[in-house]
Amino acid sequence: MIPTLLPTYARAPMSFVKGEGSWLIEADGRRFLDLGAGIAVTAMGHAHPKLVEALTEQAGALWHTSNLYQIPQQQALADKLTDLTFADTVFFTNSGTEACELAVKMARKYWDEKGQPERSEIIGFTGSFHGRSSAGIAAAGSEKMTKGFGPLLPGFVHLEFGDHDALQAAVSDQTAAIIIEPVQGEGGIRPVPDQCLKGLRDLCDEHGILLIFDEVQCGVARTGKLFAHEWAGVAPDIMMVAKGIGGGFPIGAVLATEDAASGMGLGTHGSTYGGNPLGCAVGCAVMDHVSDPEFLAKVARKGAMMRQRLEGLVASHPDVFESVRGAGLMLGIKCKATNTDVVKSGYGKEILTVPAADNVVRLLPALTISDEEIVEAVLRLDAAASAMEAA
Ligand SMILES: *Cc1c(COP(=O)(O)O)cnc(C)c1O
Repeated sequence: MIPTLLPTYARAPMSFVKGEGSWLIEADGRRFLDLGAGIAVTAMGHAHPKLVEALTEQAGALWHTSNLYQIPQQQALADKLTDLTFADTVFFTNSGTEACELAVKMARKYWDEKGQPERSEIIGFTGSFHGRSSAGIAAAGSEKMTKGFGPLLPGFVHLEFGDHDALQAAVSDQTAAIIIEPVQGEGGIRPVPDQCLKGLRDLCDEHGILLIFDEVQCGVARTGKLFAHEWAGVAPDIMMVAKGIGGGFPIGAVLATEDAASGMGLGTHGSTYGGNPLGCAVGCAVMDHVSDPEFLAKVARKGAMMRQRLEGLVASHPDVFESVRGAGLMLGIKCKATNTDVVKSGYGKEILTVPAADNVVRLLPALTISDEEIVEAVLRLDAAASAMEAA
């Protein structure tokens, strides 16, 4: 008999009843150190008092009105985001994959409005992840996500991650946009080198192609800059945001320049829940915290500290681990042992990590994690690796 929950997830046997900062408390009382943060979502940790306050205050006043009316919290969050980034305009969604839907629609509409509707092709890269909607799986293109789901949304081209020659060859007068994660998340924490992001920007400028950055996982201070592309000193035309921006409340966004958004006039897109007062009240509280330069500097410092300690961990367990990679507090350990076994062994030591492709274990802690918690996390990972070696 089919479970009453559609069985699409392989869930671990823990059930958490409470969260405090970097900690999750299991129903039986065990305290797990959370280096997953709900997959880079709880950026401010669990139950951050300022976020709880923002949510409960809004919940006591007004939950939902729809986009038939003005939503001041939504306007406030859009103003913050445009002040802090390359963007001139923002549309709010409820998730990352909905942001992908709009990014794709916006890029195609742009060319249609310019009288070049045939310019609809979007170039993506292997190992990428843009969510599970029809546009999301078509953009990423992996067989794992697309097989069996019938005709794919057409107009997507997939190139090998890092193959510059293939990219030059693939660009044509049909190319509408290029979509890329500045740091691949699900693909195994693979940062795109700054030089490559710069090269991409140049290529797009040369051909008038729109550049879409998917910062759903690597954005919102995760790497120690507000958005990961800032490290390379280049900006996209369109950017997808979600995960961390809600700190655990479901909200996403598409940010765009005035030019890139120029096709999206009245009635061209919409969402019932998107930009709802609850989500935007929390989003404002998150952005106020993470955009503080001191906060960002701390994320970068803690990321460097964690990385250094992980290098030591890897060196002392050469049969389990291979190398460390990533940026800021978006770190990956490439494993020798099977990554899912490492994650499972961690459960026994009450530490939570997340597997990714390329046999990587992802570490995406709350950005508020303390130095002591980082030290404790590495001790627990050490114990998890030792347990595997002893087995
Ligand atoms: C998680 C993720 C998405 C999809 O976000 P959902 O909120 O799960 O739809 C898209 N892109 C990237 C890079 C992601 O990490």
